[in-house]
Amino acid sequence: MKTINSIQKDYFNYIIIGASQAGLNAAERLRQLDKSASIMIISEESNWPYKRTKLSKNLNEVIPDNPFQLQESSWYNDLSLTLLRGQRVTEIFPKEMSLKLADNRTISFDRLLIATGAIPRKLPITGSEYVHYLRNLQDFKSIQHVMAHAKSALIIGGGVEGVELADQFNKAGIEVKILSRGANPMNHWLDPHLSKELQQIMEKRDILQYYLETPKKIEKLPQGYGLTTQNNLQLQGDIIVTSIGIVPRVDLLHSLGLCGDKGMIVSNQMESAIPSIYGAGDVLELPKDYPWGLWHSAEYQGKTAAENMTGLNVFMDSRNFRLKAEVFDQNYFSQGIIDEKQKNKVLFNKNNQYLKIFFKDNKISGALMANMKEISKPLEKYIQNNGSIEEINSLF
Ligand SMILES: Cc1cc2nc3c(=O)[nH]c(=O)nc-3n(C[C@H](O)[C@H](O)[C@H](O)COP(=O)(O)OP(=O)(O)OC[C@H]3O[C@@H](n4cnc5c(N)ncnc54)[C@H](O)[C@@H]3O)c2cc1C
Repeated sequence: MKTINSIQKDYFNYIIIGASQAGLNAAERLRQLDKSASIMIISEESNWPYKRTKLSKNLNEVIPDNPFQLQESSWYNDLSLTLLRGQRVTEIFPKEMSLKLADNRTISFDRLLIATGAIPRKLPITGSEYVHYLRNLQDFKSIQHVMAHAKSALIIGGGVEGVELADQFNKAGIEVKILSRGANPMNHWLDPHLSKELQQIMEKRDILQYYLETPKKIEKLPQGYGLTTQNNLQLQGDIIVTSIGIVPRVDLLHSLGLCGDKGMIVSNQMESAIPSIYGAGDVLELPKDYPWGLWHSAEYQGKTAAENMTGLNVFMDSRNFRLKAEVFDQNYFSQGIIDEKQKNKVLFNKNNQYLKIFFKDNKISGALMANMKEISKPLEKYIQNNGSIEEINSLF
């Protein structure tokens, strides 16, 4: 079967909405488990599915036409997957087991996977129409376009993506100001020690940092944009990029009653309240302590959903996954529950290398590491398996 952009068939055994990490991993797993099924993946984005994580790490690079491709185009043919690009699903009809596309075509399915991901949390203030967000390749290109002429940039949000953006703009020789409601950079992912150290590293790179500040309004100036904070701090930039979190993309689901307060609700077998409709990835609202909003958790959930869609009885658990951030020539690793209130132990702190382990109920529940990249893969496995301190000590 060929990978096509226009479809002839109006019925597939499996349909997946969203061609990213959750959707493609589900498709691959479905094919492994069901050799003869017809499988279609629908993507509203027109480019080949790509590694979304690369967007905030490569703004300063010249990129080819189809950048960061997740899979070669031949992969879809080899697995007999039908990929429909540049087409949005506008409605789902659960009783009829069918869905409607933006061009009004209707396609039926036996099983459906919702993997529609998330969208950036919007800045709820006057003038927010002037800010850029970064979620897809289109956003990436429009930020790159402005970057080419910008002399200064203002970044709202001091989380991982905000700091990555600061790094990219800094590398491009653009003056960077970063503003955050938090007390230090990346403070949800790092401990106070590493977070303060990162703040100093950024200071040395001339990044102007404003913490414990909340934006109040933005206005267009004769040149660039002006931002006023609730403390009446006034900042300017030729471009403002906002990164203040994400919210599940549930526009398709409201009328189906499949959402909680935030996102799509599924069982621990990834099935929604409507039989035959499953969910995976950033679209989900998960119980507390389940990892969410991460590349590797979307992969795990996509595969788990596929297994259950083919009739296996597989349960999603709360296993955690690492987040890595390579910013300002530092390599950070953060995994699991990083909570200073929990028992923890620094195992290594020398030069700029650092390793700290967190415990819950006397089991290892998380780890934080700086500049020890070579042990990150085995460390991730030890933490997922609640390994012992001795095992972790043996890594270095
Ligand atoms: C800039 C950036 C950097 C990141 N860096 C990291 C990182 O370093 N490490 C990490 O672990 N995570 C990172 N993430 C998070 C990670 O990318 C996400 O967790 C992951 O992409 C989630 O995958 P997903 O398949 O659930 O959804 P998504 O990747 O959001 O994909 C969902 C897809 O569904 C499509 N879609 C939505 N609605 C419809 C519809 N109605 N019809 C058709 N198609 C539809 C969307 O257009 C999109 O293509 C980053 C995210 C961003 C934006």
